[in-house]
Amino acid sequence: MDINFKSAPSPSYVVDERLLVKNLEILKSIQERTGCRILLAQKAFSMFSLYPLIGKYLSGVASSSLFEARLGREKMGREVHIYSPAYNENEFDEILRVSDHIVFNSFSQWRKFREKIGSAPKKIECGIRVNPEYSEVETGLYDPCAPYSRMGVTEANFRPEELDGIDGLHFHTLCEQNSDALEHTLQAVDRKFGKYLKKMKWINFGGGHHITRPDYDIETLVRCILLMKEKYGLQVYLEPGEAVALNTGYLVSTVLDIVDNGMQIAILDTSATCHMPDVLEMPYRPEIIGAGKPGEKAWTCRLGGPTCLAGDVIGDYSFDEPLKVGDRLVFCDMAIYSMVKNNTFNGVGLPAIVSYNDTEGLRTVRQFGYEDFKMRLS
Ligand SMILES: *Cc1c(COP(=O)(O)O)cnc(C)c1O
Repeated sequence: MDINFKSAPSPSYVVDERLLVKNLEILKSIQERTGCRILLAQKAFSMFSLYPLIGKYLSGVASSSLFEARLGREKMGREVHIYSPAYNENEFDEILRVSDHIVFNSFSQWRKFREKIGSAPKKIECGIRVNPEYSEVETGLYDPCAPYSRMGVTEANFRPEELDGIDGLHFHTLCEQNSDALEHTLQAVDRKFGKYLKKMKWINFGGGHHITRPDYDIETLVRCILLMKEKYGLQVYLEPGEAVALNTGYLVSTVLDIVDNGMQIAILDTSATCHMPDVLEMPYRPEIIGAGKPGEKAWTCRLGGPTCLAGDVIGDYSFDEPLKVGDRLVFCDMAIYSMVKNNTFNGVGLPAIVSYNDTEGLRTVRQFGYEDFKMRLS
């Protein structure tokens, strides 16, 4: 590791542009081989200072809200797609202004807004999200096909008589998965909705494709894309979030104190609940450069954050030497679902956002302070 993390602010998210470009090259090669279009799902990674770079490789952005759509329009300026479980009427004119594709979650939403779309100044492509009632996601929190899910239209609720004006279908049922899960899902989609695809222009495979992971089977993905392209003449879209910035970022932190209560506990200047909420929500244990599992190396301790939440614990780790106050710890894979989800609970400040490339080295893009905490309250 050649980045000098000691010279980054603490705490800070550091994104390595070289690793991001590696991921983007993989995604671009899939676009070139298949003619599909790949969008950045901004909900995973919205570091917009890098959107000009990302826009050189990808076709645009997928957005979950008006604000994400607007950010993608302003900062990348390529295709802007939006999907939301329900749109708010008072935002819809602006959504029309910034979006190229609008995906509806129900036929009632489509009925509600279709006239507005017809009279919009530019042509907007519309889609319906379907629920194929097939997924291999095991955690309920991330399974859009769980019983009573609100995500997408099931086969029983599909309204073929209302498809006039609909250009495509969208599904999103994967989460951190390989292409075998996509292949099985696509069979379910084809079985239930294939008869409608004949009349469509595009299909959107959603996100959750872990394409840039070393063991990802790209050939099966390519086969899935070409199948839809050849069988129905469709333009295929993918909108991965994680895969774009997977393993490209770090969270740099500093040890503030070490206490003992039956085991050694280090308190850091970074918090699980504020700065890496997925550690508690997923939950999972992030990797740290140079650290092992508890007991693996000479000195084991628990790492916790500076908030008052008793459960603000990142996990148990071992190190070659006991940690000391002032030591730096670097958490891995912290570009995704981190800065987009962080918060100022307890008045804890937000980590700086830093970028690294070969010509500029470490560059602090943004630092946050008291005003950022105060601004959201009154
Ligand atoms: C979450 C989401 C994505 C991105 O998912 P990743 O797991 O980050 O790839 C894409 N599309 C939709 C509709 C989503 O909800």
